[in-house]
Amino acid sequence: MSKTASATANHTDSNAKNTSVNPPHYLMWFRRDLRIHDNTALAALCERANADNAQLSAVFFLTPAQWQAHDMSLVQVDHIARTLPLLAQHLQEQLKITLIVQVCPSFSECIDALTTLCKDNAISCIMANHEYEGNEINRDEQLNERLTKDDIEFVRWHDQCILPPQSITTNDDSMYQVFTPFYKKWRQTLDVSDLQLHTAAGVNEKQNDELTLAKNSASSVKEIENLGREIMNDYQKTLQSTEALQHVNMEAQLTQARDAYPAGEATACQRLEEFAAEDINDYDVSRDMPSLQATSQLSAYLTIGAISPRLCYVQASKVQEKLHGNDGDNDDINRWISELAWRDFYRHVLVDKPALIRHQAYKDETDKQINWSYHEESFKAWCVGKTGVPLVDAAMRCLNATGFMHNRLRMVTAMFLTKDLLIDWRLGERYFMQQLIDGDFASNNGGWQWSASTGTDSAPYFRIMNPFSQAKTHDANGAFIKTWLPELKSIPTNVLHSEDKLRKALSKGGQFADLDYPVPMVEHKKARQLAIAEFKK
Ligand code: FAD
Repeated sequence: MSKTASATANHTDSNAKNTSVNPPHYLMWFRRDLRIHDNTALAALCERANADNAQLSAVFFLTPAQWQAHDMSLVQVDHIARTLPLLAQHLQEQLKITLIVQVCPSFSECIDALTTLCKDNAISCIMANHEYEGNEINRDEQLNERLTKDDIEFVRWHDQCILPPQSITTNDDSMYQVFTPFYKKWRQTLDVSDLQLHTAAGVNEKQNDELTLAKNSASSVKEIENLGREIMNDYQKTLQSTEALQHVNMEAQLTQARDAYPAGEATACQRLEEFAAEDINDYDVSRDMPSLQATSQLSAYLTIGAISPRLCYVQASKVQEKLHGNDGDNDDINRWISELAWRDFYRHVLVDKPALIRHQAYKDETDKQINWSYHEESFKAWCVGKTGVPLVDAAMRCLNATGFMHNRLRMVTAMFLTKDLLIDWRLGERYFMQQLIDGDFASNNGGWQWSASTGTDSAPYFRIMNPFSQAKTHDANGAFIKTWLPELKSIPTNVLHSEDKLRKALSKGGQFADLDYPVPMVEHKKARQLAIAEFKK
């Protein structure tokens, strides 16, 4: 890692007072970093605890009111609830640290709870990894003020990105507005760096003095499992009573997501190894084929921090070196690394422009000038997958059924909503968050604004994806479409991929008019012209 990056990477925010209680007791606060490997705050805290012969505990807060405010999906909440008992077990086995899981519906309750936990257990130092969303930043600042008064240290580390926010800047020290030059600098910085993974060393033997805990907490693996399930079930009931989500079979979605995403960092690391051993070598081409499972499927783990993004980079670089030598370059591996850089990029953008958290457009003028539609029926047709555009509908039904959507299809469906239907990108952004297992504010907001031409896209607004030609290119034999829209099985692909032919075939008197599937709700060519006119204005 370059000096500059390293300096920023190691930068911490701390109120930097240390009262020495004898023996001291320190606390690791887990947030979106549910892992032991390469966890910057955890490794730093273990090192300090070893040096000070301190007792170490850890805490995680279940915050249902906050999840709701963030539109967090049920499958993501479930993924966290399934991950926590495994984390508790491994913390105990590998580091002799007890994990406390406590229910604190809102962030203000978290502040009170943490303060009480520290007082009751004579904790003098808390460490955590930075979160970059607005509410989280406010919470941390308020907490810092409270803890300072009590002489308790609160240290935060940059951990969510491969290179931390504000470390990749233009020559005049500002944030890049588009991805490509950002990526160039990001790669250059990494090329000369010695990126370190942080290993948490086992803490001293004397651990687990009796802890004083609040009523709504759990600290054994079994209790954590039960508490997580209980809170998850309550959350499911809340979401099920939301009218806009009535069409989603949440029970079935949960079953699919549990199957596709077994919990825990061990699974995530194994998935990374398997991907690096095989699919990464064909990534550049296969990544755009939704009917193949050719991408890493790691986003759900990266989002909750069950795998380290730096580990992903290091693993990919190792494959690059092994197969292609020190100076080796490989399109497939480079492409995958560039996706990890996109993830960093959107976090850096969010830190640079905090107004994004309030769902303001990145390009301010688009908020004032574009006359977005809020047409309820059209939005509903998009949500449930009944627009009459097969690739869009197949993608949306896949999302509703599994909690996941392929990257190419996220772009196609987002462009269809914002360009063909001219519906405000914020509605789609919200709907994705409510469904995705990998829902992540920075990447989701970035992806939506990119698709809606309100964000960091360098391409002009008139480059609008045609969902029929996208289907022809990326689902040539219609395998993906027919998996999710079995009612279209009998339609030949040349009809499926042609808007005119499909419209004719599905219309009254047409060959497939009897099928229970709507005629395309808009004509792409006309809708495209309308969108361009709106943006030109
Ligand atoms: P791979 O192709 O294996 O890529 C590896 C990792 O790189 C991913 O796990 C992810 O962390 C990161 N990545 C890949 N593509 C992108 C990208 N375009 N932007 C940012 N990071 C990327 N990703 C999320 O993690 N959460 C979201 O909420 C999210 N919402 C999106 C919304 C829209 C409208 C769009 C266009 C993209 C969105 N993405 C989001 C990015 C991308 O679609 C997913 O990261 C990817 O599909 C996950 O599959 P994978 O893990 O197999 O990715």
